[in-house]
Amino acid sequence: MTSDQYDVAIVGGGLAGLALAYELSKRRRRKIVIIERKHVGAGGTSRNIGRVRTSQFSEPLARYAKRAFAKHAQLSTELSSNTLFWTPGYALVFYDEDEVETIDGIRKMLHAMGQKTEYYTGRKVVERLPILDGGAQPVATLIRPDACIHHDSLQNAYKRRVLAYGVEIVENTEVEAVESQNGAVQGVVTQDRSYRSPIVVNAAGGWSGDVSRLAGIQVPNTPVRREAIVTESCQPYMDTMITFYRPIEGWFHQTLRGETVIGVTDPNEPLGMNTSASPLHLRRAAEQILSKAPKLSALRVVRQWAGVYDMTPDRKPMLGFASQLKGFVQFNGDNGRGIALIPYTAELLAEWIDTDRRPEALTEFDANRYVGKEDTPVVLGDYYAAYRRSS
Ligand SMILES: Cc1cc2nc3c(=O)[nH]c(=O)nc-3n(C[C@H](O)[C@H](O)[C@H](O)COP(=O)(O)OP(=O)(O)OC[C@H]3O[C@@H](n4cnc5c(N)ncnc54)[C@H](O)[C@@H]3O)c2cc1C
Repeated sequence: MTSDQYDVAIVGGGLAGLALAYELSKRRRRKIVIIERKHVGAGGTSRNIGRVRTSQFSEPLARYAKRAFAKHAQLSTELSSNTLFWTPGYALVFYDEDEVETIDGIRKMLHAMGQKTEYYTGRKVVERLPILDGGAQPVATLIRPDACIHHDSLQNAYKRRVLAYGVEIVENTEVEAVESQNGAVQGVVTQDRSYRSPIVVNAAGGWSGDVSRLAGIQVPNTPVRREAIVTESCQPYMDTMITFYRPIEGWFHQTLRGETVIGVTDPNEPLGMNTSASPLHLRRAAEQILSKAPKLSALRVVRQWAGVYDMTPDRKPMLGFASQLKGFVQFNGDNGRGIALIPYTAELLAEWIDTDRRPEALTEFDANRYVGKEDTPVVLGDYYAAYRRSS
């Protein structure tokens, strides 16, 4: 079996793998390989809807997301390639009175951080978001000037830069083993080759739990399916992106191309890997979205797909060197926010790998916080509950 020596071996050719390879190469040239089971972007990176959202539900995430937003805002310039970053704005729309306490908490937290919000109640909500006219009456909405990118543009911008830096991307190749000796990682093994490296990064998205297990590390990361549909294009009819949590979580917005992307989650979605799109989602999404925005009934759905979120019990990412195996780095646990957070996280992780000092901003997302509590379950259900549990 052939064996080559690298400085860093990255498992997973999604946004996390590409962005980290880019940030490491930007700091100094080194020999990096990205090993991807299928093709670049085959995981969540080509299955998302590209929202870059700062209105998070807990202070650590909101603080972090604010910095991640700033990174995105200048990324087209930095990568010399248009990521299609634009700022349509992001509205959390609330339908139940019992959500008001939650909204007040988020507003206070965001204001304390210097984040401006627009806030409307009663009829004013529909005046501000006319697409909701004729649907269920919202109680309130909280709006931030958040952004959206196009995932393919973002992925390809990074891919071009890493290839220019000489990073090796090996596609259609699954990492089958992680090698270690005396408590330190030695590299990874595929069907016909071994890649020796003192640093191995687990950037495997929804498969990150499996890759951790290859390294002998138990983690609570669990994939959960999330589905989306997209309609035909039409003239611009809405700007602000919309998300709601009652009676179940859902979202929709119009893209720069004029399509409408829509998703509504199943509160009883079984945990585990599943990337099959289902007719049930189509029906659920149509029912829920049309009950809130009946004018959308004029649109025809042209495509649907599914991907997974890599979930953690506290909804925070898992980032940094694993305490159980020297040189093994976790870059996963996206909880559905990878597109928004990964570019900034990659910059911080590259700094950590280079300097051996953890950037302060990553303390909250310590990859070892579940050591000894690996069985902590990921509990789905009411969206707000997970944040109450973790705060
Ligand atoms: C419907 C949907 C909507 C979303 N919307 C948003 C959004 O609006 N905003 C946002 O911020 N996030 C969103 N997300 C989440 C976002 O897609 C992910 O956070 C992001 O793509 C994670 O990127 P990643 O590189 O960590 O993982 P991935 O893109 O999944 O990449 C991991 C890669 O690892 C590879 N791999 C796995 N195991 C192995 C192995 N053993 N050997 C080699 N390769 C392996 C996989 O093939 C995969 O390509 C959404 C997700 C979905 C499903």
